[in-house]
Amino acid sequence: MCILKNGRGCQMGLNQKLIDNIRKVEPYVPGEQPQDRVIKLNTNENPYPPAPGVERALLEMDVDRFRLYPDPSVEKLASALAERYQAGPDQIFVGVGSDDVLSMCFLTFFNSRKPVLFPDITYSFYKVWAELYRIPYECPKLNEAFRIVKEDYYRENGGVIFPNPNAPTAIYENLDFVEDIIAHNRDVIVIVDEAYIDFAGKSALELIDKYDNLIVVQTFSKSRSMAGMRIGYAISNPALIKYLNDVKYSFNSYTMNQASIACGVEAVKGQEYFEKTIRKIVETREWAKGELKKLGFEFTDSQANFIFAAHPQYDAGELFEALKKKKIYVRHWDSERIRQYLRITVGTREEMEQLFTALREYL
Ligand SMILES: *Cc1c(COP(=O)(O)O)cnc(C)c1O
Repeated sequence: MCILKNGRGCQMGLNQKLIDNIRKVEPYVPGEQPQDRVIKLNTNENPYPPAPGVERALLEMDVDRFRLYPDPSVEKLASALAERYQAGPDQIFVGVGSDDVLSMCFLTFFNSRKPVLFPDITYSFYKVWAELYRIPYECPKLNEAFRIVKEDYYRENGGVIFPNPNAPTAIYENLDFVEDIIAHNRDVIVIVDEAYIDFAGKSALELIDKYDNLIVVQTFSKSRSMAGMRIGYAISNPALIKYLNDVKYSFNSYTMNQASIACGVEAVKGQEYFEKTIRKIVETREWAKGELKKLGFEFTDSQANFIFAAHPQYDAGELFEALKKKKIYVRHWDSERIRQYLRITVGTREEMEQLFTALREYL
């Protein structure tokens, strides 16, 4: 067995020349997925089950068909999404979660020698992909209120990506703001990562026809309760989607398995159920903001399914550990500027009540 030291050397076995030619990366660290029963408010999953049609689709699957490769073009799911979002099927690219879609986007669209721009505080995977693919990047700082400063993105660059609402800050910027960034970057690709848009305001999807440099990425993991199925998608003009597909087919043609495709179609069809669960989460979020305030927390105005909160008198790292001891998992990063914050996923009302009970005992 070989133990890597600092990701470079090796305590035993491998010789240095061999190591020199290995691609070394500092991987993305996902939130914990404890396998025992806990109150899980740490990875922004949806506390409600997927749309009812999803279970039916799974039970009705023809297992004999598992002998065959799935449809590489994911036509059924792309069509369902196209209908839902009033786009053409050739405007949709489906992948294994939006992580897969975003990773393919980095590989396809960020090939300039100029730096790709994304905020200093944002989804930490962006930096990992940039490093993995050796894409130069720069990270303009969010302002003191954790807001994106749009003018920072008006300079020469190799592409732009940001989530809206941003993560982990939960702040949503309106469509005029997003459009300004897209309009100032007509020579590069702008990716708007809308993982949490269904909990917030208007989507940038309505700008797709107006700007040929725009790609909108969304996911089934949060608002559609399907994190375990791994489905994400990009919507753009047919030309950019074609480039994306060319890269995907050069990598792995059969990314989406048959079960994910069948369940995904049903999740899209369950629109009424979808709207109902979103409403419940937004209601719980707004109520939870009030409770947090009573406990003395400070937080940004979340428009997502999580709240980014700090307590002026208590250390976030210690709070995190105390909650964990009570089997309540939230997210904490020991990194500059956000060290005193917890990111708390909005669960069911009952889960949130247990969180507040635990907090009241601690504070
Ligand atoms: C959760 C998340 C994703 C990835 O979600 P998938 O499960 O891979 O679809 C992408 N971007 C942001 C900002 C997220 O929070």
